[in-house]
Amino acid sequence: NMKLINANENLRHIARQDELTGLLNRRAFMEFADTEPIAEGSHMLVMVDIDHFKRINDTMGHAAGDVALQHIAHILTQEAPSGTLVARLGGEEFALLVPATSDWTAQDWEKVAAEIDVIRARLAMLPVITPAGVARITASFGLAIARKQDSLDCLLSRADKALYAAKNAGRNRLIRAAS
Ligand code: GH3
Ligand code: MG
Ligand code: MG
Repeated sequence: NMKLINANENLRHIARQDELTGLLNRRAFMEFADTEPIAEGSHMLVMVDIDHFKRINDTMGHAAGDVALQHIAHILTQEAPSGTLVARLGGEEFALLVPATSDWTAQDWEKVAAEIDVIRARLAMLPVITPAGVARITASFGLAIARKQDSLDCLLSRADKALYAAKNAGRNRLIRAAS
């Protein structure tokens, strides 16, 4: 029964996709990321959280907030290094899992970290056109590169702590977890 098969496929798809942004949702991100063998220097995990996002909703309305979420999702997708898993983990929080494409050295990761910071700076520069007017958004970034003994959970928690530090240090900045 083709109809039923299509409906099932569709459901499976929906279960993995964030409706608003079209990005992977948390569940799909965790599933895909879990299949990646994490080893020293194999991946970079970046946690991204929009700064004072509540203010956008409060001053411009929820619909404008939604447009801002789609805007940042678009930028992250367009500008992330190729092969990166991009997800909306929930609310105004996003994650990037960047795999090494070959035997990347610390220097290569250095370059990728700089690229991620360029994304942050671009985000801060680009106006968001919403039905309620033009908005500006910034986001804080926490970044961790896989260490020898890191599991995915460990990598996530290191990136999350770095994000928290970026918030506390004044927002609109990228902080790297100690290696
Ligand atoms: P901080 O800089 O500390 O991250 O502050 P914040 O305001 O960004 O963080 P907070 O967690 O206080 O607020 C997050 C807001 O995100 C509150 C919630 O209403 C909004 N939000 C979560 N999901 C959505 C959504 O799908 N659409 C819209 N428009 N807003 C959302
Ligand atoms: Mg926030
Ligand atoms: Mg948040």
